[in-house]
Order: sequence, then structure tokens, then C-alpha cells
Amino acid sequence: MASQQAIHHNSFPATFRSVKSTPLPASQTTSNLRHGVRDPSHDLDGFFTETFSLAKLEKLQKHFWLAGAPRPASPLHQHLFLGRRVVITERLDMHLLWESDGLVYIKPLPRYLLEPETWTRYLTCPSSCACNPSTRSKCPTKQRREIALGFLYSYACLISYESDFELALNGEVAGARLLPFRSDEDGTSWAQWKVVVSDLLATLETEDVHARFLHAELRLSRLNKVHRFTQWPLFQPYNRRSHSYGDLFRNNMTWLATSTIFIALVLTAMQVGMGTPQLAEDEAFMNASYGFTVFSIVGPLGVVALVFVAGVYNFLVEVPRLVRSSLSKARAGKRRRGVEVGDVEVNGGKAVDSDVGLQSTAAQQRKSMFTQRVQGSPGVGEEAVST
Ligand SMILES: [Zn+2]
Repeated sequence: MASQQAIHHNSFPATFRSVKSTPLPASQTTSNLRHGVRDPSHDLDGFFTETFSLAKLEKLQKHFWLAGAPRPASPLHQHLFLGRRVVITERLDMHLLWESDGLVYIKPLPRYLLEPETWTRYLTCPSSCACNPSTRSKCPTKQRREIALGFLYSYACLISYESDFELALNGEVAGARLLPFRSDEDGTSWAQWKVVVSDLLATLETEDVHARFLHAELRLSRLNKVHRFTQWPLFQPYNRRSHSYGDLFRNNMTWLATSTIFIALVLTAMQVGMGTPQLAEDEAFMNASYGFTVFSIVGPLGVVALVFVAGVYNFLVEVPRLVRSSLSKARAGKRRRGVEVGDVEVNGGKAVDSDVGLQSTAAQQRKSMFTQRVQGSPGVGEEAVST
């Protein structure tokens, strides 16, 4: 990361004016709404806050040294050279995590991150903001700007060579394109990408980037171990790939079966050893054989018992969440029924509770906006982001 001219915290980082906008995802899941999903264009500030958040990963930040070296991310072709399989993720806190079975998770670079207006409106501190390079305090905008810059920086490292660029545009590598460019014959897209990276690297300082992105790829199995023993509730991994109890038992039985083969080899060797005159009368060998024989009986049984206890523990941890979810759905259902009753009363010209009336008005407005969009009128998000 070179830089003669330090990037000012309020300046636009690069001249990304060559990529036309197709702004936002169609929907975004969120824990803040009872529906669990929303149209991002209705709350762009909330959308960018959730998208550029690393809250879960930041809890493990002081243990990053265990999971990955502090260096730039490897180019994309290097991951393939190492036999890794790229899997796309839309979770930023899973970006550039890799698993020992050869998976590496990469979040595609969204088109809106190459739009100047995204940076000026949602990723730049307001002029009245108190945080500046000389102070350590950071406002929420500054925090998400550091994360967005770090994410872009990771792409500058990932797409380093033209071969990386072609791989990123080849949907077969990850199942989808990783960059918002089109492959072309004359190299225009590649030239545009080089301008993006050049602008970024010329102005970026280490302190402008979130610390997570200074550690390149992180090993997910190490993060899972750290998370199990440092976060509450205990014994929960950072990310669980298997979500069924069958997978839990199957995964643990695999390594138990491997261990059993090793134990059987040792027992066979001990049995042969006891048949030889040198070891048959050796007290230390006999004691070791005795101890290992007891271990070979108790050990596997103990492991099976532990896996069973882990399954029960996971179930008990899940129960409160399932109960809460069920209760909140029941409450939401009651509220919806209340709104429907209010609508009927309004239509019938009867008196209606003011709160219910407001909700039904809001529902009508949403319906009206949806109708407008279907008929071709611009929506709220389109107006706000497109240039
Ligand atoms: Zn600020």
C-alpha cells in the first residue's frame, strides 16, 4: 500500500466513473424487522450499515494472528493453484475465509461500490463530523468506510493479473462473476479495472483500512475454535456448515474411525510384542500395554458420549431461540389480523383505532409504490443511488 498523498477521511478515494450503476440487491434479510426481509432501497443508510458491518468477526480480532498472517490477500489464480474451490458468499464477515477441505469464500464486488455517489452519500463523514485523522474517535460512517475500503483493497490484491481478471469474470470458477464487468475482446474492462486499482493504491493508507483486511485469508477452522472457547454461548463455532445432528455425528465419526484404525495397529503390535521373550518379561512394556488396552476400550466410548452430549447441548442452546422466534411470529400474526380488521372498519365507514389506521395507511402507501414500480415509475432507491 503506497502513498505519498494521504487520503483525507472525507475525500472520494478514486475516480470510478467508468462503471454504470445497477444499484442494489432485490432484498436484504435483517433481524430488525418482524418479516426478516426488506427492500434495501427503502432504507439505504440501514442497508449500507448492515452490509459493511463486521460485528461478529471483530469480537475475534485480537486472535486473528492465530488464523492468518498479516499480509495482502493472494491473487485469485494462486487460490486455484493451491487447489482451493471458490464459493461465493454475500456475507462480508465470511469474505476470504478458507477451510481445510479446500473451500475459500469470496464475496462478489457489488456494482454500487464502484459508484461515486455511494461513497459521497453513504461512506463519507458529514462535514460536521467530529472524527478526523488526528482523533481516534470514529463515527459509524467512518467505521463502515474503513470496512468498504478494506473490502475494495482485498479485491485490488485478489485481481492482480489479467489472468485473475479473466478468472473473476468466468462464472464457472465461483458459480457467478466476482466483478461487475463484462468480458470484452479489446481489453477495455481490464484497463478500467487497472484505473480503479491504481487510484485506490495511490491514495490509500494502512490506517484507512479496517484491521480485518490487513490479514488476508483467515482459516475458518481456527476462528471456529477461538469462537467456541471465547464467546458466549460456549462451544458454538463462528460458522457452522452443517446444520443437522446427522452431520454433527457423521463429521465426528469420520475422525473417530480413523483413530480406531491407528489404535488397532498399536494393539496388534503390542500383542506381537508380548509374544517375544524380550518384551514378555519387561514390566514397563506390560504396564504400557495394560494402560493402552484400557484406553482403547474407554477412549472411543468416551468420544461417542461427548458427541452425544454436544448434540444435546446444541439442541438446548437452540430451544430458547426457537421459542422466541415462534412467539414473535405469533405476535406479528395477531398484529396483522388487527390491521386487516382496521381496514374492514375503514372501508365500512366505522370508527377505527388511530394506531391501526396509521398502519393500514402505511400498507396502502407501500402497495401504491409497488404498483408504481410495476408500471415503470422510478422507486425511492433508484432515485437515491443512480447517477
Ligand atoms: Zn465521522
